[in-house]
Amino acid sequence: MNFADSEIVASILSNEYALCNDIADADVILINTCSIRENAEQRVLKRLTEINVLYRKHKKRKLGLIGCMAERFQKQLINDNLVDLIAGPDAYRSLPILLSDVREQAVNTLLSTIETYDDITPVRYDGNGISAFISIMRGCNNYCAYCVVPYTRGRERSRNPKSILSEVKMLIEKGYKDFTLLGQNVNSYCWESEFRFPQLMEQVACLSETLRVRFATSHPKDLSDDLLKVMASYPNICKSIHLPAQSGSNAILEKMNRKYTREWYVGRIEAIRKYMPDAAISTDLIAGFCGETEADHQETLSLMQRVGYDYAFLFNYSERSGTYAQINYKDDVPDDVKTRRLEEIISLQRASSHKSNLADIGKTFEVLIEGNSKRSSDFYSGRNSQNKVIVFPKTSHPIGSYVQVKVESCTTATLLGKAID
Ligand code: SAH
Ligand code: SF4
Repeated sequence: MNFADSEIVASILSNEYALCNDIADADVILINTCSIRENAEQRVLKRLTEINVLYRKHKKRKLGLIGCMAERFQKQLINDNLVDLIAGPDAYRSLPILLSDVREQAVNTLLSTIETYDDITPVRYDGNGISAFISIMRGCNNYCAYCVVPYTRGRERSRNPKSILSEVKMLIEKGYKDFTLLGQNVNSYCWESEFRFPQLMEQVACLSETLRVRFATSHPKDLSDDLLKVMASYPNICKSIHLPAQSGSNAILEKMNRKYTREWYVGRIEAIRKYMPDAAISTDLIAGFCGETEADHQETLSLMQRVGYDYAFLFNYSERSGTYAQINYKDDVPDDVKTRRLEEIISLQRASSHKSNLADIGKTFEVLIEGNSKRSSDFYSGRNSQNKVIVFPKTSHPIGSYVQVKVESCTTATLLGKAID
């Protein structure tokens, strides 16, 4: 989401500023930030201090902090004189004004109920020319007890489908092929009370047979059969679903305010498998939420075994100030216990990812070539419909084309194969 937002910011500033590659050449440095876990915030604060020492004090350049940390840290940043300007996620249109402000520090952290930046054409400055993120909605109304997003990014709002479709069309003309529709909870996308996410997916898929469309991320409570039917009926809608479970224990799910039970979640997994037996399923899990017992933790491990996730993003619980959990529950799982539980979750997931990759050996997939492999320019790297990375020796096919690749071996993270046409 922040990657996509930075492309919007680059566009908003493109009349006055050009992008540069070296921080030492910059007149303006903007740090786009995430508040989801404490670790992310600590890294930004460290980076800000370094940039202050190296770049801000010496020359007349402006340093700004944008994104989710803006609101929560504005007092501290101003008091410590760490930045010249601060802009929250709904205030990017005011950046040119904030930058021309002659006062010491300029701040806009207001949240909006309507801003979707739908008339802004993002500047795709750091991509591969093949894959693009398309922001389709902003904010979140779910208020999971642990999560800061509803406070930092504000209320849920959907972007006009016309502007989404015209952005995709324009990118297709430029040679883009792989589109990820983005939002905190894309399944609650809704335009003028009737145009919903399954319809949007269908319309994007119909724009061109040679494009691919994916989405991230889905709250399980909103994953409808209508969406699964649409996904199953279009070959160019990728067969991968990221369905964050967070926990396998009903007691913890309830405390987290996730609004589903383990049984209901497993029912959604069964529905995915029914409509798309070849779909990859991934998840997010949190270890050590408030009051989590050893039995709750075992439930998470058993859910993982039950589902057999293809991959997962795994986190220790990190208390966020102002959330329901911080106000009402005790962050009472000791750090060493959290870490041990997280390690158990990680090692189970590693085995599950490896098993999923081993099962692909001998299969042939259509792969969209996205660029050279990071390890060697003798190899191409691309993804299949299931969102798995496949690396294979270079062929005469140009980057951006589809090629059939037979998988010959794998690591826990990557499939290795050979092009067969
Ligand atoms: N909207 C998505 C998730 C977006 S946040 C959803 O509900 O599924 C991405 C992930 O960060 C979450 O799925 C969760 O696993 C993790 N996360 C959010 N807040 C967290 C916290 N306070 N501590 C640890 N992990 C957290
Ligand atoms: Fe956070 Fe829950 Fe919203 Fe996801 S659905 S962004 S976890 S509040």
